[in-house]
Amino acid sequence: MNDVQIVIPTGDGRIYYDMTGTGSPCNGCSACCRHFRVSFYQGELDTQPGGLVPADMTTQITPFRACMKGTESGYDRCIALQPDGLCSIYEHRPSVCREFPVFLADGSLNPECVRLRIMHGIPAWEPNRETAEHATQRATVTEPL
Ligand code: SF4
Ligand code: SF4
Repeated sequence: MNDVQIVIPTGDGRIYYDMTGTGSPCNGCSACCRHFRVSFYQGELDTQPGGLVPADMTTQITPFRACMKGTESGYDRCIALQPDGLCSIYEHRPSVCREFPVFLADGSLNPECVRLRIMHGIPAWEPNRETAEHATQRATVTEPL
């Protein structure tokens, strides 16, 4: 996959993003997976009908919400984050991970990504010509969920 961010409308008004493209700024970053509390509605757990997120990798934080282990207090790495910086449950990751864009609608890098990269000592992302063209086009690349 060469696209740096695939935009996936969910059909219920939400937008998911896939950043597994080879030119993605997420390659070598994973700052968001080491910073936020990754919490979500417990209906997303694989113990619930239609749920995908492995429940044994989560902590229940309220009667209705769970979060990825390791992120309960924030500022620590998610249990699903592998040493190589990839997510071990990418196809089953929570919606909150799917909804965090690396590019905004105008093609600019998400300011939160810029902030987190600085905070975690990750060099600023510089697109090469190919990825810059893909980034500009990214809002038009869609796949049905
Ligand atoms: S902080 Fe931004 S660039 Fe870094 S992994 Fe997360 S979404 Fe990607
Ligand atoms: S579930 Fe995957 S994408 Fe989400 S924070 Fe954890 S490692 Fe990152």
